[in-house]
Amino acid sequence: MHNKVTRQNIQDIKDLLGHDIVIDSDISEDYSHDEMTIYGTRAPDLVITPKCTEDVSKLLKYANDHLLPVIARGAGTGLCGGCVAIEGGILVDMSHMDKILEIDKKTMTATFEPGVILMNAIEKVSEEGFLYAPDPGEKSATIGGNVMTNAGGMRAIKYGVTRDHIKGLEVVLADGSVITLGGKTSKNSSGYDLKDLIIGSEGTLAIVTKIIAKIIPKPKLMTSLLIPFSTLKDALDAVPYITNLEDVATTIEFMEKEVIEDARLYLGKDFPNKDYNAYLIVSYSGNNKNELERMINLCAELALEKGAIDVFISDTEERQASIWDARGAFLEAIKNSTTEMDECDVVVDIDKVADFNDFAKNVAGRENIRIRSFGHAGDGNLHIYILKDDMPDDIWQRKAKAFMDELYEEAAILKGQVSGEHGIGHAKKAYLKDSLDPAVIELMKKIKVAFDPHNILNPAKVIDIE
Ligand SMILES: Cc1cc2nc3c(=O)[nH]c(=O)nc-3n(C[C@H](O)[C@H](O)[C@H](O)COP(=O)(O)OP(=O)(O)OC[C@H]3O[C@@H](n4cnc5c(N)ncnc54)[C@H](O)[C@@H]3O)c2cc1C
Repeated sequence: MHNKVTRQNIQDIKDLLGHDIVIDSDISEDYSHDEMTIYGTRAPDLVITPKCTEDVSKLLKYANDHLLPVIARGAGTGLCGGCVAIEGGILVDMSHMDKILEIDKKTMTATFEPGVILMNAIEKVSEEGFLYAPDPGEKSATIGGNVMTNAGGMRAIKYGVTRDHIKGLEVVLADGSVITLGGKTSKNSSGYDLKDLIIGSEGTLAIVTKIIAKIIPKPKLMTSLLIPFSTLKDALDAVPYITNLEDVATTIEFMEKEVIEDARLYLGKDFPNKDYNAYLIVSYSGNNKNELERMINLCAELALEKGAIDVFISDTEERQASIWDARGAFLEAIKNSTTEMDECDVVVDIDKVADFNDFAKNVAGRENIRIRSFGHAGDGNLHIYILKDDMPDDIWQRKAKAFMDELYEEAAILKGQVSGEHGIGHAKKAYLKDSLDPAVIELMKKIKVAFDPHNILNPAKVIDIE
């Protein structure tokens, strides 16, 4: 049971940290939500912006002693209400701890403070000739937020997700103690991997204050193929064959004509082709031009054999930009096309993506609702959006919930998972609980209690502790 933040607490915290804190009407409205206001908004009782690990440590020790909720926030680009203080409390805005501390070429690691913006991390690492391989779509997110949601992205099929690129973490535990997990070593089989447990824990187990990430040599060449199909099913059915080719594609994304049109309206820029119903974007990267061309040809031939109508090759920066700029804007473009939306981010086996998408379309048709979908075909992660348009509020709430209930039920039947990359927050908590074995939920609760006995860290997120 938490306490409410009092005027005395606010004064104590101010004295403790010795720098500004924000309260009451000075709290920016931005702090009361993430990118999905549909999941509820609530202003925190105060906002602090730590400048160093010690600030976080002092704050957590105080909050733990006084049973005050503490919610970490990166850039607030999350899509499941994870950084929202839904029960009030202290919001810790980590975006001011934003130094790139080191690029170490010898160990091929980059060390970041958690508030470093992804875009800046990618750029700095790239200037040194390396690649930070995870590629989540929202480049203004923080690295800390990416770590805590185990963000995925477009290159997950080849390189994996954020967790696969994090070698070490410095974290502050609920009682204020600071620990280091992992480091720069390439391997580690030394006991339970608490680092990997904390990655993806959405601020419920600890606050991350330093991140050691793996960096790899940057491939010199990349070519993308835009492959149209007459139906999305044809496109998705081709994917497992493409993944069986000799080399692993860097990305395999799917989309339909309508989403491309949304992006055109949103960006005011044309996509290289928009004549067909469904598309795959497949890209390959490497250093050897002949080898890359051979893979492109193999993929093109296979796609045509599997029903593609044509294959457009984008091998110049300009042509690739016209594809990837549009792909990067899909979520915002869909949001822009309606009054409100809800999102489903399930992941299923890659040979079940077409079935799942068909299921969603059938339900949408039956219920007369407008939906949009796109996603990471290469790793089975779909993003399906139900759109409110001009539906009255009560009908919208009923229809959106019923639609989501059906989708998550179907995902469970297909042995998929509730979230592929956006996380659980508080929005998907009930679906997580329904989807997992009760014994797993019980184990998760015990882990939460072991890390955070008073449940001060991001309470009411991911799982409920009674
Ligand atoms: C247009 C758009 C495209 C997107 N594309 C992708 C995509 O391709 N792949 C993908 O995975 N996601 C995507 N996202 C979702 C979002 O960008 C990610 O979830 C991202 O990782 C959130 O980072 P953030 O800094 O905004 O974190 P926030 O939203 O601020 O927080 C997210 C969670 O992390 C916790 N947290 C943040 N910082 C810390 C910290 N230092 N210590 C402890 N806990 C912390 C918060 O408490 C919260 O639970 C997209 C979002 C948008 C709007």
